[in-house]
Amino acid sequence: TANVATATAAPAAERKSKKPAQEKPVNLPDPPASLVDNEGVQWTRGRLLGSGGFARVYDAISERGEMRAFKVIAKKHLQSRKTRQKILAEIMIHSSFKHPNVVTFEDAIEDDEHVYFKLELCKAGSMNDMVKKRGRYTDAESRFFMVQILAGCQGMHTHNIIHRDLKLGNIFLDEGMNVKIGDFGLAALLKEVGERKKTVCGTPNYIAPEVLYDEGEGHSFEVDIWSVGVILYTMLVGRPPFQTSDIQKIYARIKNNDYEIPVEAGLRPEAEDLITSILAPKPQDRPSLIEIMNHPWFTAGPIPTFIPMHATKTLPKLN
Ligand code: ADP
Repeated sequence: TANVATATAAPAAERKSKKPAQEKPVNLPDPPASLVDNEGVQWTRGRLLGSGGFARVYDAISERGEMRAFKVIAKKHLQSRKTRQKILAEIMIHSSFKHPNVVTFEDAIEDDEHVYFKLELCKAGSMNDMVKKRGRYTDAESRFFMVQILAGCQGMHTHNIIHRDLKLGNIFLDEGMNVKIGDFGLAALLKEVGERKKTVCGTPNYIAPEVLYDEGEGHSFEVDIWSVGVILYTMLVGRPPFQTSDIQKIYARIKNNDYEIPVEAGLRPEAEDLITSILAPKPQDRPSLIEIMNHPWFTAGPIPTFIPMHATKTLPKLN
């Protein structure tokens, strides 16, 4: 856990529009303009959709007119054994299962310079982009998204996968505003029932207290449940619960369970109750995904049957 405490990217960083300079893959030549996948289909690179740690993500169109996202990693960044293993783990875990609320991993391709992940394209961007543009979501929208986030988590957990970096920035939306959980860069696949994970490398944003302050017990699926609580809070309030400008202070606030639900956000009592129950300091006190789904908040108001894509930018009229 030491690397978590000394990490440079803060949970607060997610709300900033610019990532720290060292995270940007600078001075890298563009990947090739076209690429042939393992089925022999040719893809032409389009727009840069985003960039993360050492990956750049582009949309691409096939000769048949289909569109996909390509996550491109320069092999220059894979010189250490550790980073190579991390990428292999991400491929192994992400390609091992398919779920309607998880970004589909279709193919891994490589050439001399790059490794490419061919992924389902999420045209409406990330849920973090949406909260940055719009501020908090309505109660009804949050319910719509939560149902799908929980379904995606259930899919991962039944495949013994802990995502470990669930946050609005890793939850994408397709054209129909369906939730697609992505970025399995920190995910863990448990090999046996009851296995506990001891280390998390990297800088998970909505990190659970038992990961930060592990007393030798390790962590498990409950870390994703915690993140779901942080996500629910962030959707309804418009910013994450433990956010401050200083990383160490954020971690201290997580440790002390120090957050408030602002009255101005006008949360229903059911929503407050659900958030409080999920953000329980002890992992064993948190509700299961099924218990969350059965919480009265889900029936306290409407669930829209459909959310239009313009809702990423402007408040939709829902009925
Ligand atoms: P990293 O693991 O390096 O953080 P991500 O997988 O989070 O990389 O992707 C970086 C960015 O690329 C995302 O924030 C998002 O803007 C964009 N992106 C990633 N996957 C997709 C996708 N499947 N569809 C559309 N955009 C995507």
